Amino acid sequence: MPTQSPAFSAQSASSPLAHASIPRRDPGPRDVQIDILFCGVCHSDLHTARGEWPGVVFPVVPGHEIVGRVVRVGRDVADFKAGDLAAVGCMVDSCKACPNCAAGLEQYCDKEVTFTYNSPDRAFTTPPAATPPMTYGGYSKSIVVDRRFVLRVSPKLNLAAVAPLLCAGITTYSPLKHWGAGTGTKVGIVGLGGLGHMGVKFSHALGAETILFTTSPGKADDAKRLGADAVVLSRDEAQMKPHAGTFDLIINTVAVPHDLDQYTGLLKRDGTLCLVGAPSSPHPSPSIWNLLTKRRTIAGSMIGGIPETQEMLDFCAERGIVSDIELIPIQQINAAYDRMLRSDVRYRFVIDMASLS
Ligand SMILES: [Zn+2]
Ligand SMILES: [Zn+2]
Repeated sequence: MPTQSPAFSAQSASSPLAHASIPRRDPGPRDVQIDILFCGVCHSDLHTARGEWPGVVFPVVPGHEIVGRVVRVGRDVADFKAGDLAAVGCMVDSCKACPNCAAGLEQYCDKEVTFTYNSPDRAFTTPPAATPPMTYGGYSKSIVVDRRFVLRVSPKLNLAAVAPLLCAGITTYSPLKHWGAGTGTKVGIVGLGGLGHMGVKFSHALGAETILFTTSPGKADDAKRLGADAVVLSRDEAQMKPHAGTFDLIINTVAVPHDLDQYTGLLKRDGTLCLVGAPSSPHPSPSIWNLLTKRRTIAGSMIGGIPETQEMLDFCAERGIVSDIELIPIQQINAAYDRMLRSDVRYRFVIDMASLS
C-alpha cells in the first residue's frame, strides 16, 4: 500500500505552490526509501510548476536536487542501509538496457528516462499501470527510488549546499569532463547563475584557466572569489576582442535566446561551444562561417549519467566543493521563484525540508 507524504504542489499553472499530501510507493526489492532533508530549487522547477513547458501534468511536485537519509531499503539492496546519507538528482528510472543506459549515460536513454518529477511513473505499480501516475519530486518529506538512481553523499560536506550539485553541479561538471577541461586548457563559462557558479568552481578545480562571461558588472568580484581568473563583460566588444580564437571550451548556461556568434568566434581551432541552457524560443541561427573556418563545434549536454554524478559527488567531497546557497523554509518557495526570475539569488535556493510537517 502506498504511504502518504507531506509535500508542496502546484495544482495548476496559475496556482502558487501549497501544502499537499502525495502517495509514495512501498519500497520494492531494489528500492531505497529516503527521508528528504534538503531540496535545491532549479529553474526547471519553476518552468514546470507554472506550466511553461509542454506536457506538464498537474498537480506538480517539483524538486530534483535531493539530499536525505535512508529509512528503509528493499531486500535486494545490499549497499545502502537505514541511516545512510543519500541523494537523488533529475532521474529516478530509465530502461536500463539500451546502449546508453549500458554505458551509464541514462540521461540519454533511447527508450524513456523517468525524470524525478512530471514523468509517467512506470515503477509506481507492478506491473506498470496502463496510464501510470506522474512522478513527484523532492518538495516532499519522503521519496522512494530504485537503488540504481540513488547516490552516495559524504557527511564531510554541508548537506544543504550539496543539494544543487545534483542538477546544477552535474550539468556543468559533465561537459567540462567530456571536453577535457583541465590544466593547460582555457575554459569560458557564460552566465553566473546556479549553473554558471558551479561551472566556474569546477573549471577552476580541474585546473583550467577559467574566464567568466557576464552582462552584470556587479558579479565580477564574486566570480573571482568562486575561482574565475578573469571576468569579461560580454556586451563590451573591447573586452571580448582580445579573447578571439583562444578558448578550448565555452560552457554557455544562458537560457534566453542570444547571439552565439560572439562565443563561437572566441574558440580555437576544434574548440567547442557547449550549450547547457534551454531557451524557450530558439537562438538566432549561428554563423556557419565562424564554424567552418576553424572546424569549431556547437554542442549540447544534458545533466550527467549516474556513474558520473557519483564521480562528481566524490570529487566534491575530496575537494570540499559545494554550491553557494540561500536556505529557505518551504513556505517561502513562491517568493523564491519570483526572486529567481529577477536573478536575485546567490546562487541557489535550497529548501530546508524540516520546515515541512
Ligand atoms: Zn534542474
Ligand atoms: Zn535506456
